[in-house]
Amino acid sequence: MTNKEQQIKNHFKKVDKTSSDSGCWLWTGALDPVGYPFQRWDGKLAKGHRVAYEIHHGEPAPKRLFRTCGNKLCVNPEHFTTDSRVAQSKKLSETDVAQIKYGCDDMTQVEIAERFGIAQSMVSQIKAGKLWKTT
Ligand SMILES: [Zn+2]
Repeated sequence: MTNKEQQIKNHFKKVDKTSSDSGCWLWTGALDPVGYPFQRWDGKLAKGHRVAYEIHHGEPAPKRLFRTCGNKLCVNPEHFTTDSRVAQSKKLSETDVAQIKYGCDDMTQVEIAERFGIAQSMVSQIKAGKLWKTT
C-alpha cells in the first residue's frame, strides 16, 4: 500500500456514511476551533472536505469550494461544488445564519463567505439583517 492509499484509508476510517438521512458523510475525527473537519494530509493539516474532494477527484481542491448541504461535519464530495451560484441556491441553516450574524466578529466578510460557501454580498446582507431574520 502506498503512502497515499494509507492516508485515504485513514481518512475513511473517520467518516460515518450511514447515520445521515440526507446522504451526508459525517466526519468523526478532529475538528478545527470552529467545528470543521480537520486532519493531517500529505504531512500538513488540512480541512477534511478539501481532502475528500482531492480523494474523489484525484486532484487538489480548488481555492473556492462550497458546501451545498449546510452540514459542517459533512465530507461527502458530492455535497461540494465549485460553482458559487449552485451553492447560493441552497439554504443556510438557522444556526449558520446566527453564527454569521453574531459569531464571526474576528473574521472578514470574505473569510465568512468562504467558510459558509456563500457570496460576500450575502454575508453583508445577513449581517445587516436583510436576510433570514433570526429571533
Ligand atoms: Zn452533506
